[in-house]
Amino acid sequence: MAQKCFSHRNIDGEIEDILHILKGRKLKKKLDKKLYFILDSISVYITYINAGTLQYEFVNKAFARAYNIPREQIIGSHMNEILPEKNYQNAIRYIEEVRMGKAETYEHYFDVSIGKRWVKVDYIPEFDNKGNVSSFIVLGTDITDRKKAEEKVKESEALYRFIVETASEGILILNRDLIITFVNNKLAVMLGYEIEELIGNSFKQLLFEEHLGEFVVQLQKKMREEDAIYERYLRRKNGSKHWVIISVKAMMDDEGYYTGSFIMLTDIHSRKLIEEQLESAIKKLEVLSNIDGLTNLANRRYFDEIMSLEYDRLSRYGLMLSFIMIDIDYFKKFNDYYGHLCGDNCLQQVAKVLAGSACRPADIIARYGGEEFICMLPETDIEGAKVIAEKMRIGVERLHIHHNGSTVSDYVTISLGVATTKCSPSNKVLEFISNADKALYKAKASGRNTIEVF
Ligand code: GH3
Ligand code: MG
Ligand code: MG
Repeated sequence: MAQKCFSHRNIDGEIEDILHILKGRKLKKKLDKKLYFILDSISVYITYINAGTLQYEFVNKAFARAYNIPREQIIGSHMNEILPEKNYQNAIRYIEEVRMGKAETYEHYFDVSIGKRWVKVDYIPEFDNKGNVSSFIVLGTDITDRKKAEEKVKESEALYRFIVETASEGILILNRDLIITFVNNKLAVMLGYEIEELIGNSFKQLLFEEHLGEFVVQLQKKMREEDAIYERYLRRKNGSKHWVIISVKAMMDDEGYYTGSFIMLTDIHSRKLIEEQLESAIKKLEVLSNIDGLTNLANRRYFDEIMSLEYDRLSRYGLMLSFIMIDIDYFKKFNDYYGHLCGDNCLQQVAKVLAGSACRPADIIARYGGEEFICMLPETDIEGAKVIAEKMRIGVERLHIHHNGSTVSDYVTISLGVATTKCSPSNKVLEFISNADKALYKAKASGRNTIEVF
């Protein structure tokens, strides 16, 4: 049989009314019809018991129905004849209390005819003229539905707590002023804090200086307007960086006003560290593959790559580009006389002078092959290129590296060929390089240790 369900407040209100009715009258064996009608139409179990004999003087329909015993049989019976043994044993201590004039309330899981029910039981003493307890009222309110609802809430709370505490994500709740109101253990451990050190403090303490201004404003906006996911590093307690994926969900109240933010932090720190290491390893590799091992200048492969990119760029604006082709004079003889190791050392010294002569960021000097070097000077006209070429020529001669086999100088010298062009998409860059080469050939032919312009 379905029980009528009252909310807690209603039940208390109802009980008040019943007590009022019961206490207002000296309860006689026979109640008037109206009162009967009221008490019988109520789902609360109501009994009126003689405190001396513990016999029922009145029970309402709900009570009789709960134990499935006719009311006529209940009235006049002792409590222990009606209540199941277990229920009676449970009642004894309250009966003792109420007989001494103490009102009692308790909640218990009872066996009744319709199964097991949670019942809130009130024992209310009634005093005679001399102040003795003559009888007492027992009210039983079925609170099974309320109990079930409470259990459900407890279960789902326990479930959420379980999820939050076992989640591999850090969880953080902020109020509208960015004050931390909740963190799970995972988050505290991730950032090296105790939970207590975070609760009540501003989220800003987890941010670095560089993020404070722009980031907080942006974060606040994002928190209010939309859900957002992004990668950031946060500040650990010890001041170090910790990479996380932050996913923010705005929390709104019933009226749609922003009340705070729910934030999940996924720990990506180790992944980021590996990425960073990989990146720097790749960079190192790239550098290595672009550099000539002997002279530390760019190698030919890298030069060709940059040159064509640079030529395209300069072509778009019709800018000037100069090449200088450089070759050490009588280097074969140098090697023959001083040996290959000295030759290598000489190449290194010459390379240093060449690199030091063209210093603009876009200038590139590369080892083009053997004892030949090439220099690319973007946005440099012929006059500028000649100045640099002369700087190189003098610089090498001033190294004063003795060269027994040279007929032009006591020291190692270089010959240089310069070519300049206005870049345009219709011309081929390799043509200009070969022009510089031709100029170099001319410089060799005209005696070496000199500069020729194409
Ligand atoms: P020229 O003045 O006409 O340029 O005469 P050269 O002897 O310099 O010209 P050639 O091209 O005939 O000789 C180049 C020499 O450079 C050949 C080789 O012994 C030397 N050489 C090329 N690469 C290296 C290197 O990596 N180390 C050393 N030690 N010598 C090299
Ligand atoms: Mg040479
Ligand atoms: Mg050569």
